[in-house]
Amino acid sequence: MQQDIASVLLSRRQIARGIRRLANRIAADWDAHPCDPANPLTITIVPILTGSFIFVADLIRQLPLRLRIRLISVSSYPGAATAAHKATLQHELTNLPDHLRGAHVLLIDDILDSGGTLTAACQALRQRQPASLRTCVLLRKQRPEALAFPVDYVCFDIPDQFVVGYGLDYNDLYRNLPDIVTLKPHLLRTEAAYAR
Ligand code: 5GP
Ligand code: MG
Repeated sequence: MQQDIASVLLSRRQIARGIRRLANRIAADWDAHPCDPANPLTITIVPILTGSFIFVADLIRQLPLRLRIRLISVSSYPGAATAAHKATLQHELTNLPDHLRGAHVLLIDDILDSGGTLTAACQALRQRQPASLRTCVLLRKQRPEALAFPVDYVCFDIPDQFVVGYGLDYNDLYRNLPDIVTLKPHLLRTEAAYAR
C-alpha cells in the first residue's frame, strides 16, 4: 500500500489538529444555542457512509455534547449525460431515519466535490422536518461548485485532486491509511476514480 502513495496531502497529525479545532467550533456553536437546562439540547449526527466513518469517529469523541448517531448511505451512479458529455450522478439514499421531526441535525460527509451528494442528502433530511440542519465535511475541493456550495463546517480545503486515506477509498481500498494522500497516477483510471 505504501508504494502506491504519490504524496501525503494531510498527515495524521495535521488531521488530528484540524479535527480538534473543528470540534471546538461546533461545540461552541451548539453550546450557544438556547436550551432549557431541564431538557438539554441533543444533536443528531447523520454521517454519510462509508467515507466519513473514521472522521466521525474521531470528531464525536472531541464533542462534549449530547448526541445521537444515525448512519445513512448514499450510492451515486451515472444518470443523464449533459451537453458536456459528463455524467451527472443520481443519488440513492438508504437507512434514512423516519423520525427527525424537531431534531437538530448535523449531516457529515467526507468530501465536498460537486455538492451532489450533500444536496441529495439535505433534501431527503429536510423532508423529515428537523428543527435545524447543518452540514459538515472533512475536506472541500478547490473547485467552483464546491466553493459555491453552502456548507456550515469545513475541516480542510484541499486542491482539486483525487485523494484517499482516513476513510476515503479508491475501489474500496486505502480507507485504512492514516494520512490523506494522492495515489500514483498509473493506479487511477480516470473514469473509475470517479465511479463511486
Ligand atoms: P460530490 O457528490 O460532492 O460530487 O462528491 C462527494 C462524494 O464523492 C464523496 O462523498 C466521496 O464519496 C466522493 N469523492 C469525491 N471526491 C473524492 C476524492 O478525491 N476521493 C475519494 N476517495 N472520494 C471522492
Ligand atoms: Mg461518499
